Amino acid sequence: MRDFEAELAERKRAGLHRVRRQISGPQQPVLTSDGREILSFCSNDYLGLANHPANLDALRQALPSTGLGGAASHLICGHHDAHHQLEQRLAEFTGRSAALFFSTGYMANMGIIAALAGRGDTIFSDRLNHASIIDGCILSRARVHRYPHGDMAALESMLKKTSGHKLVVTDGVFSMDGDVAPLRELARLCREHDALLVVDDAHGIGVLGPQGRGSVAELGLSEQEVPVLIGTLGKAVGTSGAFAAGPEVLMEYLVQKARTYIYTTAMPPAIALATCASLDVIERDDARREHLGSLITRFRQEAGALGYRLMPSETPIQPIMVGDNWKALALSKALEERGLLVTAIRPPTVPEGEARLRVTLSAAHTHGDLDRLLDGLSACRSLLERTEEGL
Ligand code: PMP
Repeated sequence: MRDFEAELAERKRAGLHRVRRQISGPQQPVLTSDGREILSFCSNDYLGLANHPANLDALRQALPSTGLGGAASHLICGHHDAHHQLEQRLAEFTGRSAALFFSTGYMANMGIIAALAGRGDTIFSDRLNHASIIDGCILSRARVHRYPHGDMAALESMLKKTSGHKLVVTDGVFSMDGDVAPLRELARLCREHDALLVVDDAHGIGVLGPQGRGSVAELGLSEQEVPVLIGTLGKAVGTSGAFAAGPEVLMEYLVQKARTYIYTTAMPPAIALATCASLDVIERDDARREHLGSLITRFRQEAGALGYRLMPSETPIQPIMVGDNWKALALSKALEERGLLVTAIRPPTVPEGEARLRVTLSAAHTHGDLDRLLDGLSACRSLLERTEEGL
């Protein structure tokens, strides 16, 4: 038998052991953890909608008519009016012909990639794509080529050498770096080389583009150019689940073939109705995105001026690059001692030697909250310098 205890001890030794922090109360910038308040900069609730009164009201109002449990998978008896209503709303929101509601983004990526590519086909996947995309590629049994992050010349030369069915998959906004994929170039290459483009816009939906319609809408890319658009609903949308959006024929194909859609219990229908309410807020409330934009600009200017190494990201994901796992942990701990929660992200989530603090900003943060983060970063930077562990 494998020595699991030894493997865990080895992870601890390498600074890779992870712990689950327990919080109480709703998700909001000030969290309660261990009976103490801590100001969080690591949630994906980019618009502050996870606890929005309109969404909570919609959930409460939905429950008497929908009940709670999903009870069965969609193809048995779990497909509810509420799911259908959300799918129509998502199609309209994304400007696509149809949409399909999945229970999580992880399952959406796994099921969609494995349904659309199979043995004998070839998948091209950006090296920094999310774990669920990597797992979907493995599950598909297709040949997988990982191209260097955002490197369109490398992708083009790989596409040129490949025959047969081709699928290109990318994050819209990269989850650990915060940069946006070169979507226009990807769409062009896919058109020229007859490849199917799949974009997972988990971190762009709600945040980027006109009325928060995402990174694909920001560039005005059509359904023909990006046939499979994936989005998640547990981040900026503030509820739970995920979706695919695109041509009717592809959505119907996924209903028939995506095993993570077919063989899982449908999401509680009330969540679908709360999600519809949240999409209404997203569409009409540009002020949230404007406020978030002002926090991002300020963070970049002021954290950059403190000498921290940031990434070329204009999104709410603003990693502070550290490199060493232990240094990242030390910085995170020092901030925590000042009542600030910014988790250290280490391999395998990011490449070896690229540990970082993944700062995420939210429209729910005030400029006063940001002052506290910047003060903490200023104090911690000098502390690290004094101990000769400068960044
Ligand atoms: N795609 C990306 C790019 C993600 O960052 C994540 C989650 N962090 C997912 C998919 C998975 O979504 P979910 O949390 O809904 O499973």
